[in-house]
Amino acid sequence: MVFCDSVGSSQPLSDDVGLAMYVEAEETVVEQCRGRKRTRNVDSWKKNIRKRKRARGEEYTSTTGKTVPAKSCSAVDCHCPLKCAEKIPGERQSALRKQFNAFEDWSLQTAFICSQTKVSKVARKYSTAQHSRRKYSNSYYLSNDEGIDVRVCKVFFRTVFGINDGRIARATTMKSQGLPKIDNRGRHRPHNKTRDEDVEFVKQFIAVCQPMNLTTVGTRT
Ligand SMILES: [Zn+2]
Repeated sequence: MVFCDSVGSSQPLSDDVGLAMYVEAEETVVEQCRGRKRTRNVDSWKKNIRKRKRARGEEYTSTTGKTVPAKSCSAVDCHCPLKCAEKIPGERQSALRKQFNAFEDWSLQTAFICSQTKVSKVARKYSTAQHSRRKYSNSYYLSNDEGIDVRVCKVFFRTVFGINDGRIARATTMKSQGLPKIDNRGRHRPHNKTRDEDVEFVKQFIAVCQPMNLTTVGTRT
């Protein structure tokens, strides 16, 4: 940017010397501009556009090329004893959904899920199994029109936000461990990547072979 700006400031002179200087200066500028790299624009990356669309609940194309439809915006009624739909009517549901989708960021949404979920120890065990794995139970809360958190059932909670059980389970597990949840999608080590020890072995092998090759070449000539 700095180099290119100097083009405008260069004044052509009337005599030959001046013209030569001008042309030379211009060539230098062009040469310096040629090597510039494109700026890294993370926001325009295909995978980041997809992530944002998915977080907003809009239609997007998955990594496998499948078209995933937009999340449903219709009012939810679970007909459960907690009377969730009476506490959080249709309009309030869309307002909450909008607020959730507006985060556009997976980690922020997960933090929101955690803040609206209460994890407590199981008070009563109904299972007769000797080794029941269930130790904790979750309760879910949504803020009503007055901004007061009211308890709703899990089905209602997940349907309003268009999320699945796995998403809730992962968020609450991290909450019980006291760790902030970060987005690990797409951050795994590639499955087909050569192991570090194999790369090191090949490097050592090449290092050993190189002097031998030179000797061979020397004797041939
Ligand atoms: Zn319900």
